[in-house]
Amino acid sequence: MAEQNLIEVKNLKKYFKVGKDAVLKAVDDVSFNIKKGETLGLVGESGCGKTTCGRTVMGLYEATDGKVLFDGVDIHKLNHKEKKKFTRRAQIIFQDPYASLNPRMTVGDIIGEGIDIHNLYTGKERTNRIYKLLELVGLNKEHASRFPHEFSGGQRQRIGIARALAIEPEFIVCDEPISALDVSIQAQIVNLLINLQKELGLTYLFIAHDLSMVKHISDRVGVMYLGTMVELAGSNVLYDKPLHPYTQALLSAIPIPDPETERKRQRIVIEGEVPSPINPKPGCRFAARCKYAKPICHEKRPEFKEIEKDHFVACHLF
Ligand code: SF4
Repeated sequence: MAEQNLIEVKNLKKYFKVGKDAVLKAVDDVSFNIKKGETLGLVGESGCGKTTCGRTVMGLYEATDGKVLFDGVDIHKLNHKEKKKFTRRAQIIFQDPYASLNPRMTVGDIIGEGIDIHNLYTGKERTNRIYKLLELVGLNKEHASRFPHEFSGGQRQRIGIARALAIEPEFIVCDEPISALDVSIQAQIVNLLINLQKELGLTYLFIAHDLSMVKHISDRVGVMYLGTMVELAGSNVLYDKPLHPYTQALLSAIPIPDPETERKRQRIVIEGEVPSPINPKPGCRFAARCKYAKPICHEKRPEFKEIEKDHFVACHLF
């Protein structure tokens, strides 16, 4: 795998004003990079900021502060023409395949929209490109004249993937692409994404709350909690040797397929609810629920630092 970074996210912040004096800190000083051809998984409970982070990386939300460099260029400083060029190279697959496809358009036109916007192909070439994309995602050319409601959830997500691939992007943000699907279909979509990555050399930011599926597809995984990145490491390292108390608890909740081991293992139960990201308290965001919390945890936010090679943690225990 090439070592060159395609994406560099530096101290990214995305805040939303939610009242006169209230600020929702959805993403608060998050940094990571993604190498060319790599998949970075982003996990955490709902409301942790992972989707906002993905959308800010794509430029769908303006950053409050920090940088998102794509091939060395800050995407939040692009003019209109440059932005169009960037969208040719970076695409997003949305969570809900039911809501993300226009019900009044045929599948062929949904996939062809990007081709038209970027003037890539016309006439027969356009039609052939659409047929090829349908085949690439496991559908067939007869599907081009049908409408989204005629398809199952898994097939609709395949259409969403074909739409994202239509303009030959290098980078795709997969924003919870399997969350709305049946468990039996989830593995099919993940395997399709893995095969497409190998075939087309794609780079992914894969956002999900299903930790076992994230491990399957990701080279490295980042764990978010209440707008902050608490741990980031290679997937095997993170799953075998999690260091942050929150990551340990999250991983302990994944069911183990072997009933004997499942019965014996100890789950770490996190007490309490996820606190509000509106005007968060100083210190570690996990402090109110952490059994290891000490006074400094309530006062000073822990630095996100490299504890071992390529293993980053934000916790005062380290
Ligand atoms: Fe727990 Fe403190 Fe580490 Fe936060 S910094 S996870 S409160 S030990």
